[in-house]
Amino acid sequence: MSFEATITSIHEMTPDVKQFVVRADEQFEYEPGQHTTVRFDPEEAGIDAEEDGPVIRPYTATNLPGTEAITLAIKRYEEGTASVYMHERSTDDTITLGDLEGNLTLRDPEEDVVFVSTGTGITPMIPILRQYAREGTGEVHFFYGEKTQEDLMYRETLDTLDAQNPNLSVVYSLSEEEWDGPTGHVQEHIEEYVDDPESRRYYTCGVPQMVVDTKEHLDELGVPDEQIVSEGWEEGAIED
Ligand SMILES: Cc1cc2nc3c(=O)[nH]c(=O)nc-3n(C[C@H](O)[C@H](O)[C@H](O)COP(=O)(O)OP(=O)(O)OC[C@H]3O[C@@H](n4cnc5c(N)ncnc54)[C@H](O)[C@@H]3O)c2cc1C
Repeated sequence: MSFEATITSIHEMTPDVKQFVVRADEQFEYEPGQHTTVRFDPEEAGIDAEEDGPVIRPYTATNLPGTEAITLAIKRYEEGTASVYMHERSTDDTITLGDLEGNLTLRDPEEDVVFVSTGTGITPMIPILRQYAREGTGEVHFFYGEKTQEDLMYRETLDTLDAQNPNLSVVYSLSEEEWDGPTGHVQEHIEEYVDDPESRRYYTCGVPQMVVDTKEHLDELGVPDEQIVSEGWEEGAIED
């Protein structure tokens, strides 16, 4: 089912990512980690699209449910379709959204958990982490890979949660900037920080190749497949 919603606020999170607050007439009900879909007719919107008919792309709600608004964090791709459409929107514009759905959701708040994401794959990790911060009782490791410090989304939120929670440890790894923190593929730092990786629950999200590489790495660390909850996205656009 689709419904209309109004953009009430737009904020630049990084040079390529904007956060949109989108408000509807009814309360949004969903599990943290689930996504809606943005839908539009490209011809009407004056946007070049490869597909015929309406464009439909998934975007994750990054806030917790229970209000009439969701926040979306959307990265713009130069050659993109829906990401360009959204970045051209203004406050007070109406957009069409689909119902929230998806399987990347918190399994058990009592387990020790490890989040591993890159790029906009962080978007489902943030609401699940927020839920875990409320309900969870275990230890949390949050690994997030980006190109440069400038590209890091939610750094303020994560650093604040890290400082407030003795059970939370946040690790950023940069692939295109030398700094005094970890560099290279983020999943390769897991064993430096997690003593018993095989006993944790993993939530992972990023481009498909990153999810495949992370699962392979976790397999080498002895993590059973059923302890990994994952989603790979932006199909066909695999970056290092
Ligand atoms: C479940 C799910 C949840 C998602 N949640 C979010 C979210 O919260 N925030 C978010 O920003 N995205 C999210 N995505 C990705 C999003 O749905 C789109 O795939 C993305 O915005 C690109 O769509 P587009 O229409 O702009 O580009 P498309 O029309 O799909 O692609 C056109 C061209 O854009 C370029 N492009 C697209 N993706 C990439 C890429 N990753 N790297 C390099 N070039 C690329 C390529 O040149 C490609 O040929 C999610 C995906 C899934 C499956």
